[in-house]
Amino acid sequence: MTSPLVGIDLGTTNSLVCVYEEGTARPLTDDLGHTMIPSALALDDEGHLTVGAIARERMAAGLPGLARFKPFMGTDRTLSLGDHRLRPEEASALVLRELKAMAERRLGTTVSEAVVTVPAWFGEPQRRATLDAAVLAGLQVTQLLNEPTAAAIAYGVEQGDDPQVVGVIDLGGGTFDITILELFDGVVEVMGSTGDTHLGGEDFTDALIRGAAEQARVQAPTDGAFRAAAEHAKRRVCSGGEATLQLGATTVTLDEARLRAWCAPLVARLERCIREAMFQAKVRAGGFDRVLLVGGAARMPLLGEVASRLCGRDAELAGDLDHVVGRGAALQAGLHARHWALSEVLVTDVLTHTLGTSTTRSHGGMELYDRFSPILSRGTTLPATARQRYWTLRKGQTFMDIEVYEGEARHVRDNTRLGQITIDDIPENQDDHEAVWVRFTHDVSGLLVVDVEVESTGKTHELAIERTGRSLRPSDLEAARRRLAALRIHPRELLPNKFLWERANRLVTLTSGPLREHLDHQLTAFEAAMETGDADSIDQVRRLLQRTVTQVQDELGMEL
Ligand code: AMP
Repeated sequence: MTSPLVGIDLGTTNSLVCVYEEGTARPLTDDLGHTMIPSALALDDEGHLTVGAIARERMAAGLPGLARFKPFMGTDRTLSLGDHRLRPEEASALVLRELKAMAERRLGTTVSEAVVTVPAWFGEPQRRATLDAAVLAGLQVTQLLNEPTAAAIAYGVEQGDDPQVVGVIDLGGGTFDITILELFDGVVEVMGSTGDTHLGGEDFTDALIRGAAEQARVQAPTDGAFRAAAEHAKRRVCSGGEATLQLGATTVTLDEARLRAWCAPLVARLERCIREAMFQAKVRAGGFDRVLLVGGAARMPLLGEVASRLCGRDAELAGDLDHVVGRGAALQAGLHARHWALSEVLVTDVLTHTLGTSTTRSHGGMELYDRFSPILSRGTTLPATARQRYWTLRKGQTFMDIEVYEGEARHVRDNTRLGQITIDDIPENQDDHEAVWVRFTHDVSGLLVVDVEVESTGKTHELAIERTGRSLRPSDLEAARRRLAALRIHPRELLPNKFLWERANRLVTLTSGPLREHLDHQLTAFEAAMETGDADSIDQVRRLLQRTVTQVQDELGMEL
């Protein structure tokens, strides 16, 4: 049986799965009825792994857990979850595995492949780490799709054929992307794309925490409970309200003006990225037909103002803000399967980092090592292929190391090394220098193939790039699988009760007086009912508790 056509938005704070069906994409829900699944992991009191909403609840209550690991994808960072040590791609694999299982329950069939989105700005190591995460989760990735491109597909497919220049500005939890596209006749062409992999809504929360702590002259708190309060306060201020944060004995009042002042350096970074993308795409202020804001943190009015000012057009908050990237991914899965309803749409993309090799040049009798020689320049429309000729440095030289780098710096030491190929069959020629042609081919999913031809012999080598130490070799993969298998999963049928319990527990910590007592009392009754295992009495008490929880949440102005 073929896999359903599924798209996954693997976000820093939240993830989402959508399925393609008859020309449209539909978000799928978890057992709690939520479409947005927090990209968070925690161990519960029994040491069981929980993924998603429950994990986020526990972290918000100040208990240990793991979240915001996406920005570390492709690095050697080790993360701790209880006694378990995980690499960032393993943590992402656990989220992907949960999303896969959830989609399978909703669709009643095995989901074996998916289009997975990544920030356009992700380089090769992060893309490889994302692919590794999918392998560990038992998913084959049909395509890694850039997030803004996914958003544009959702628009391009669903909004007719008028030629338009569209800016997609995506501020998620941990990453910022801006992509400028041209949509015409069902073609989505990426004109420019740039961003910052370490700039997102969470940095604004950090800035707010730091600002408030400075004002209260205390050390910035680092616990999950305070962070949740700060997040809540940020949202209130962003929707035009005021909020307070309690820091020791000091109550700090937060308002729009303070948030702006504390976040000014972050806003300057947003501006720099937008200007750079406009420069790359050769679009001036006023040259946009539409400017769309996507990603959870696009709800901050600050972003809309900056975008509107720089682009010379009012930026719109995309409808269905949280789902647009995931929907685009599912539509792309439909496109991949050459579904008739989408056959008119073609998508191109651009390279976001220059790719090239290291060379040694002779200059004035000196040999200059460590030079970066670009082959595919950033901004090149994908898929793309380009080749370049290199000469042996010395006559009689029979081998050559071709190292592959990604980046913009003149010296390779300042760029990212992707791998190396050794060519050892260059004919020994004492009379002349020998030449090799190095071809780079890059497909739309962000993967690079390097092939090399020795000019004099015509011998071609189709060689895979030697992987960097960060990607998983088969033995690493086995070890990672074992580490993941060591995590016991929380029984699924108990999840809705568990979520309610965690949420009620957190609310107890946020309330006081009679309300707190009331909640505490109901929570105790709920625990007692769960202890008995009697379905009817659990159900009865759960309903009462749920009602109180909803009431308290409304009073506190909390979202689910
Ligand atoms: P995403 O990864 O796209 O789900 O984005 C999540 C980010 O959006 C988090 O950093 C949130 O703090 C931020 N966010 C979500 N809702 C709001 C809101 N109403 N106001 C400000 N920021 C928000």
